[in-house]
Amino acid sequence: MTDTHCPYCSLQCGMTLSRKGPRLEVSERSFPVNEGALCRKGWTAAGLRGSRERLTTPMVRDRVTGEWSAATWDEALDLIASRLEALRDEHGADANAVFGGGGLTNEKAYQLGKFARVALGTSQIDYNGRWCMSSAASAGNQAFGVDRGLPFPLADIEQTDVCVLVGSNLAETMPPAARHLDRLRENGGKVVVIDPRLTPTGERADLFLQPVPGTDLPLALGVLHLLDAAGAVDEDYIAERTTGFEDVRRSVAAWWPEMVERVSGVEASQVRELAALLANAEKVTVLTARGAEQHAQGTATVLAWLNVALALGMPGKAYAGYGCLTGQGNGQGGREHGQKADQLPGYRMIDDPAARAHVAKVWGVDAASIPGKGRSAYELLDALGTPKGPKSLLVFGSNIVVSAPNATHIASRLADLDLLVVADMVMSETAALADVVLPVTQWAEETGTMTNLEGRVILRNQAISAPDGVKNDLDIITGLATRLGAASTWPTDPATIFDELRAASQGGKADYSGITYDRIRDEDGVFWPCPEGSEGTPRMFAEDFFHADGRARFIDVAHRGPAEAPTADYPLHLTTGRVLAQYQSGAQTRRIKDLPDDGAFVELHPLLADRVGAHDGDPVVVRTPRGEMKAPARIVTTIRPDTVFVPFHWVGANKLTNDALDPSSRMPEFKVCAAAVSA
Ligand code: SF4
Repeated sequence: MTDTHCPYCSLQCGMTLSRKGPRLEVSERSFPVNEGALCRKGWTAAGLRGSRERLTTPMVRDRVTGEWSAATWDEALDLIASRLEALRDEHGADANAVFGGGGLTNEKAYQLGKFARVALGTSQIDYNGRWCMSSAASAGNQAFGVDRGLPFPLADIEQTDVCVLVGSNLAETMPPAARHLDRLRENGGKVVVIDPRLTPTGERADLFLQPVPGTDLPLALGVLHLLDAAGAVDEDYIAERTTGFEDVRRSVAAWWPEMVERVSGVEASQVRELAALLANAEKVTVLTARGAEQHAQGTATVLAWLNVALALGMPGKAYAGYGCLTGQGNGQGGREHGQKADQLPGYRMIDDPAARAHVAKVWGVDAASIPGKGRSAYELLDALGTPKGPKSLLVFGSNIVVSAPNATHIASRLADLDLLVVADMVMSETAALADVVLPVTQWAEETGTMTNLEGRVILRNQAISAPDGVKNDLDIITGLATRLGAASTWPTDPATIFDELRAASQGGKADYSGITYDRIRDEDGVFWPCPEGSEGTPRMFAEDFFHADGRARFIDVAHRGPAEAPTADYPLHLTTGRVLAQYQSGAQTRRIKDLPDDGAFVELHPLLADRVGAHDGDPVVVRTPRGEMKAPARIVTTIRPDTVFVPFHWVGANKLTNDALDPSSRMPEFKVCAAAVSA
């Protein structure tokens, strides 16, 4: 029996794995975040073990015939290394690019960032976490001076008075977490849910607001307007712990509830009801998730809600504050240790000379040899195969052609590459387009740390050996770095790499230097920042924020609206999201036979269905300026009549989504675009 964690979402529920003959069985175990509970995905996580879908040998595709042939590991790695070298010699180091994932362990994320900068010498590395919570990360950095999804343990929300969830379907995406909302209500607290769809989370709410997609920001402005007008802002806290409130105060003055109603569709009386709830609460917790964040004004939207929390004096107070519900399993750790285009380990910025010097010393290289900032995820993919863009792409832990916005365009960019290499455990839609596919281990076959949505560093222990022919991503990185004659050392043992990561992170914002595998095992995880000798930091900001003056920043933001407004041809709003039984691009969950896979669907309101002549279960076509998809109609009264919803786990949804980017986080606008629907 091996104690470990679920392979999927950022809750990182604890579980135990046992061998039953050739099978691997999941059972519950006590862990503070999930208390033994798992969702359907967690219970069935071992379903890929022994599956015929697993890849067990490297595969090379003939570009002319399209035929696949098996290769040995030496053949495959020799081929990749020689092509990378040739491209670098011909076009320069930035000709080679790397794309990582928010599901990779900290050790892999760290090693991938180091591989890109040291072995390839490229600045061109980013990862799919950019499309997850980067707007909240950008907002957290601006307001608090640091980005940790939840600056407090998740269970703290049980003790708050009012919990406002903006764009989160927590009850469906991470069901074990819903118990905290239930307990909050049992304790007499209130839950507020803001979402264009009435989801299982909204059904738990004491107050449910249903705005037009892309208008969470003006709603926050209207709430702060009312709080200020009622004298409900915490003037002492604002004076002692923040800067910048007067500018915000002036700009929210224009946002009367009636104006909020005109823009967002939320009745003015409901805006007043929410403001009154918050004004009368001692402890308020505001949580945002992808519904608020995946917009071209995602950072501004989060900042607007952060302004509400700050004006009420909540961040740093016990059982109150602001937090982001991170999505991917290692969405938090994945953005701390160097696979992001602008970062080095420890959440250091790559353009900071002191940060470069520190990391260069750990890596044993000259600081000047570390490249500068690269392109963000979408911009990187959009540049592939163009005259000034990368000519090769190495993909680890990501299924780009399902998960990228404007996916048809991105598939065409991949086709223009000289070399596409994908490391995956199955032949995903992206792997199927590759020149070389490398079969890798899944979570139960490897050891490594993850950092969950609370900033809690946890340890996944290897429970079972990998199938013959399969290698760890870390082996691939080492194999390529060695062939490329890279400077520095390239261990494959996760514990050794974690020790190097600890040194590289020392003194950074995300300081892991005091965290060890033994401590994680003994303490059910350790919260960063954790300098050497520290107990870790479950709760942040009690004394100071992370800006040099210790104060949080109010940032004045304006509502620009979605990048693409409805038109006569595209009169509706399209929004996308998840369903309970699937995870992200579905590369794993769609292959687990015990999870229902009914395929994509189009959710629409009966009024809209009547207008376009759609019948429940019959196919409808959704069109946007970028493409179209066909899927069965699901007619529900829980969605706004001006909005359609498509889940993004299957090929299709992201052929429709808009690639407009947030100016700060470079987050694409997944959550709203103009659309038309026909029967
Ligand atoms: Fe796994 Fe997330 Fe489900 Fe927990 S909630 S079992 S971590 S998918």
